Amino acid sequence: LKSATEEIETLIALMARLPGLGPRSARRAVLHLIRKRSTLMDPLATLMGHVAEATRECSRCGNFATSDICDICSDPARDIGEICIVEDVADLWAMERGKAFKGRYHVLGGMLSALDAIGPEDIGIPSLLSRIVSEQVREVILALNATVEAQTTAHYIADALREANVQVTSLAQGVPIGGELDYLDDGTIQAALRARKRF
Ligand SMILES: [Zn+2]
Repeated sequence: LKSATEEIETLIALMARLPGLGPRSARRAVLHLIRKRSTLMDPLATLMGHVAEATRECSRCGNFATSDICDICSDPARDIGEICIVEDVADLWAMERGKAFKGRYHVLGGMLSALDAIGPEDIGIPSLLSRIVSEQVREVILALNATVEAQTTAHYIADALREANVQVTSLAQGVPIGGELDYLDDGTIQAALRARKRF
């Protein structure tokens, strides 16, 4: 059986693996949690257990959800005629922080890469294409990062939709070269969405 001290040390070691936290800040965070046991640590532990158990991928768009379909896909106020394609859930959250987009999303979860042998099937592009056709989408907005792999992926999707009756646009102004959506501020996201252009 581990002593309490060893368990606390293990907790600190686990916390130190979180992005943005090193061993020093993990130690401070754990000390703070123990001191605020009833107001912070207990509710956090309960909620983390619940989220760990309930969280899954939305079967429609790939966003995180606590049921089969996520809150965005099941929201009747969202425009079903527009799909915004992003690489990662972090990018979806970044777009939502911008509050400018009222359609729905598709999270690819990766990008095409010849180097890493990642093909269209690996990132679910065939099911994305059939989703676009079956849901009678009017406009596909490519909100992908400015990396080589992302641009290759964007061109692939645009080519695949060339024959379909759908407008393909991409985010324009605001996204810096080599930049990542998750690091942009809300105003930049808004400007980039407004200035989207035909791809
Ligand atoms: Zn969804």
